[in-house]
Amino acid sequence: RQDVDWARVREDFPLLGRTVHGKSLVYLDSANTGQKPAAVIEAVDDFYRRHNANVSRAVHALGSEATEAYEGVRGKLARFLNVRADELVLCSGTTFAINLVAYSWALPRLQAGDTILVSRMEHHANIVPWQLVAQRTGATIRVAEIREDGTLDLDALRTAMTPDVKLLAVTHVSNVLGTVNPVREICREARRRGITTVVDGSQAVPHRAVDVAAIGCDFYAFTGHKMCGPTGTGALWARRELLATMPPFLGGGEMIREVSFEGTVFNDPPQKFEAGTPNIAGFIGLGAAVDYLQGIGMAHVEAREAELLAHLTGALDALDGVRIFGRAPEKAAVVSFLVEGAHAHDLATLLDLEGVAVRSGQHCAHPLLQFYGVAATCRASLAFYNTHAEIDAFVAALEKVRRLLG
Ligand code: PMP
Repeated sequence: RQDVDWARVREDFPLLGRTVHGKSLVYLDSANTGQKPAAVIEAVDDFYRRHNANVSRAVHALGSEATEAYEGVRGKLARFLNVRADELVLCSGTTFAINLVAYSWALPRLQAGDTILVSRMEHHANIVPWQLVAQRTGATIRVAEIREDGTLDLDALRTAMTPDVKLLAVTHVSNVLGTVNPVREICREARRRGITTVVDGSQAVPHRAVDVAAIGCDFYAFTGHKMCGPTGTGALWARRELLATMPPFLGGGEMIREVSFEGTVFNDPPQKFEAGTPNIAGFIGLGAAVDYLQGIGMAHVEAREAELLAHLTGALDALDGVRIFGRAPEKAAVVSFLVEGAHAHDLATLLDLEGVAVRSGQHCAHPLLQFYGVAATCRASLAFYNTHAEIDAFVAALEKVRRLLG
């Protein structure tokens, strides 16, 4: 196994060299959005400087270059996730992807008496679309509960999979607790009962090798900006048979084959679900991000982040009065915490003055924070480009801030 030179990898991220409030930046908010390597920034820049044209519309050279490059990214993403390219609907991110499932798959199918099973640890993007569907169809939402350590209660989940459950929405990795859910086992159980599964891969794809085919879900959503790519990029993977039966979500150009006022013939999937001009430059950047991550190797990324997580958890555990939320045995490098006697927002604000960027608040997961009975937490989330020295700087800053708060 070849070792990665992590100090050199870090040099690939121009932003990480900057200062904030006169201090070296310590960026611990990668679960919110990831930083971008120069290769991604340059790919976007190069597209606009040398290749900019719309996709699928023009026969001229620039148009076909843009189309080829854009479709090439679909292929790259497909290989990265071990799925077919024509099963990947490119879109603006996880939020769009899940709403597409809600409006095109769930809304026409569900009715009163049906149940949508959603885990307690979902991001609002995997809760609110189902509530909107429930309101319009009369279906009911049921919650799959978690345990104190932040793991899903799998026995309770199995029991909750009653015959009225038509859809199960579960995250692969929690953005608050870091919990890695056994989505393969969960989807197998669901499939045996004829339940359609939606997996939110937002926090998984950037941090580990994900084989979507092996998971055996029906839908898998992810977002590009957390995996070194530009904002406004992402995709929904869906089984072909499902895509074939789903009506379009948005109407417009690109998603049609023929339009007349008498009627319109839609394009085949995935284009049928891709109305309008996409974020072409963004996807070119996402393609560069996939190349970049594969250049490091996702197994290396995962191992590096596990090592950083162990360092961070150990350092926080060594402090008095720090409560960590989420102690799953299989956990991604996300640490939500509170310090006794300090408000999460005060901590984050004072840490910012020390150059440390952490997120405070509810992390788009109100129901999860309700479970723990807290209004907000601080969250330090890591990526492979963070360093042990940064973790030490963060912990020193936390101690200083705590003294300031008295
Ligand atoms: N699900 C999870 C688990 C997330 O962490 C996020 C981003 N915070 C989302 C969904 C939403 O992703 P986006 O805002 O890119 O649509």
